[in-house]
Amino acid sequence: MPNKPRDSRHGDDDSGGPRDRIAELIAPLRVRPGTKVRLPRDFDPGHTGDLVNKPAGTELLQRGVAMLADYQARLAAEHRRGLLVVLQALDAAGKDGTIRHVMSGVNPQGVRVHSFKVPSAEELGHDYLWRYGSRLPARGEIAIFNRSHYEEVLVVRVHPELLDNQQLPPSVRRRDVWEHRFHAINEFERHLSENGFRIVKLFLNVSKEEQRRRLLQRIDRPEKNWKFSAADLRERQFWDDYQKAYADMLSNTSTEWAPWYVIPADHKWFARIAAAGTIVHALMELDPQFPTLDSQARRELIQLRSALEQQ
Ligand code: AMP
Ligand code: MG
Repeated sequence: MPNKPRDSRHGDDDSGGPRDRIAELIAPLRVRPGTKVRLPRDFDPGHTGDLVNKPAGTELLQRGVAMLADYQARLAAEHRRGLLVVLQALDAAGKDGTIRHVMSGVNPQGVRVHSFKVPSAEELGHDYLWRYGSRLPARGEIAIFNRSHYEEVLVVRVHPELLDNQQLPPSVRRRDVWEHRFHAINEFERHLSENGFRIVKLFLNVSKEEQRRRLLQRIDRPEKNWKFSAADLRERQFWDDYQKAYADMLSNTSTEWAPWYVIPADHKWFARIAAAGTIVHALMELDPQFPTLDSQARRELIQLRSALEQQ
């Protein structure tokens, strides 16, 4: 695609404006439902798009963040639909920073972030979707899952002993357990989407070399030490298994109602624009509206206004 110069000073919401730029930016990141994904062959973690460089990107991110704030206000006021953002990635891919930057403009009352960790004993005593179901957004809300139900076909697949911990009856522990989980997750998400909840699924795709660099930084920079975990180094040894598990997840759970987007994550500035863009794009399609009054309710309001004025 040719690198089209665009004049950022004249950005507007018509054609050639941010709406079109966002749509163009995210289109190549979508996993077409039914395609078989191979990693790293199919998605380059270092991709930065043809449309933006870093300075133009900063401006675009600011715009995206502002649009997000506006849509979130409308979503809350409308109180009919909700948005679930699913964030998945390997360690040090930038999930936390992405949430911080992308959500920086929105009203905290309308957004909930939930970080899923190793399941508790109580959680392991239920079916594997139980703990995710209880954290879903309500109507009018945006919920962000920092890790999600997809861990159930990722970390649990890479480490079979975690499946042992789930105390499943023997009949469930067949070879097709992953196929069953893909199916159940797709149906779970179909149910949500048919009930007014939009799902945006983002896989922050970092390369092995960039992860190595970031883990080194967590050791070398004292202010980042708190983020370092020896467990991250252990997980890194399973890199190839994770790539396979992620590819299989993308191949089996990118659906028309809840497609995956693979966000190139080696350049943080681009990852943030792409993540913001994908979320804004979903909200643009939902297009929530401030409720308006019918003429009767409007007349009553005007009467109340004049009563208030005369006090
Ligand atoms: P972090 O996101 O770095 O705080 O780490 C959370 C840890 O919890 C990661 O190592 C995940 O792999 C782990 N985790 C999240 N969900 C599950 C799950 N369903 N089963 C087992 N481990 C999980
Ligand atoms: Mg971690």
